[in-house]
Amino acid sequence: MEVISYIGIGSNLGNRKKNIEKAIVFLKADKKIKLLKKSRIYETEPLGPPQRKFLNGVLKIETKYSPFELLRRLKEIELLLGRKGSPRWGPRTIDLDILFYGRLVLKTKKLTLPHPQVSERLFVLKPLCEISPYLKHPVIKKSIKTILKNYETNKKN
Ligand code: ADP
Ligand code: MG
Repeated sequence: MEVISYIGIGSNLGNRKKNIEKAIVFLKADKKIKLLKKSRIYETEPLGPPQRKFLNGVLKIETKYSPFELLRRLKEIELLLGRKGSPRWGPRTIDLDILFYGRLVLKTKKLTLPHPQVSERLFVLKPLCEISPYLKHPVIKKSIKTILKNYETNKKN
């Protein structure tokens, strides 16, 4: 069974653009993943400790992996690209997050779906809105476009 999933990609260490491109090459080469859409790459201010700006983007994929298999695969790719166990919010070569896995809602120690950042971070909302503005958030029950608009009116980021 194939499921539509959205992957958030970020990098702020080394050659950020290359890191993102390489991660996409790995994902494309995976027989259980089909790349459907790719957002533009956005440059965003870092959160947390002072560090370089991030490049962020979002991919829409179709996958045969279960949610936990997909998470394991993404972590594998992070390691292949040389991500060291970096602190939360800290600099990283590559960060691959599952934003949505179909309409699945899940809260476990290892995996939270949808990813909490979807409703909180402009660096996720903007690229996501570019590729799927009418995608409905299964918990908030609003479209990405509406969530982004609300966010911008509240002027948070
Ligand atoms: P960040 O939260 O900044 O992305 P990490 O990439 O180090 O930090 O992720 C920390 C942990 O978050 C991962 O080890 C993973 O188990 C967990 N996690 C929970 N939900 C998700 C998700 N939807 N996508 C990716 N990782 C997740
Ligand atoms: Mg992550």
